[in-house]
Amino acid sequence: MRANYQKEGLLLVVSGPSGVGKGTVCAALRKRMPELTYSVSATTRAPREGEVDGVNYFFKTVPEFQNMIEQDELIEWAQYVGNYYGTPRRVVEETLASGRDILLEIEVQGALQVKEKFPQGIFIFLVPPTFEDLRKRIEGRGSETETSLNSRLHAASDELKQIEHYDYVVINDKVEKACERIQSIILAEHCRKDRL
Ligand code: 5GP
Repeated sequence: MRANYQKEGLLLVVSGPSGVGKGTVCAALRKRMPELTYSVSATTRAPREGEVDGVNYFFKTVPEFQNMIEQDELIEWAQYVGNYYGTPRRVVEETLASGRDILLEIEVQGALQVKEKFPQGIFIFLVPPTFEDLRKRIEGRGSETETSLNSRLHAASDELKQIEHYDYVVINDKVEKACERIQSIILAEHCRKDRL
């Protein structure tokens, strides 16, 4: 007898330290796999240049975000470097129920909450080739103040310790290579005999 979730789509969680390139890798993955639904997160962080509400994030005020928490509208949420981030529940549940795969690109505290609620999820940890490489990437982004850069680096070194909770580790040496590795994981997961 199959459990219900085996007929559902895959819940794919790509996590890893800030600056590792999760956003870039996931964007490339979405181009290769347009059939993947992407979960748009809610956040209280201010939009960066070029970011669009409802596309990159749902930008919320703190009271609006807190209301979403109270109404149980998020499957997970975390405070990260002074801002709230969370995954809206409805899209995730509806996508999985319709048999389609959904991709969540979230930080580590949130990923661990998702793992408790959705143990059938596929948890992928993206790592930089080296820590120095991570610093360069965050600096290169140019949108961080020195305090924010240090907070993000501090958070990153804690986040790297959470690797044991993940199913797969993918090195982001080159975006296309990392993307290919994740695509292979997804294809392999679809071929598991217990999902047939
Ligand atoms: P950024 O401010 O650079 O866009 O994101 C900061 C961190 O928050 C990144 O590690 C990003 O993956 C993570 N993040 C984005 N959306 C969510 C979410 O819905 N939940 C959690 N827990 N983290 C998120």
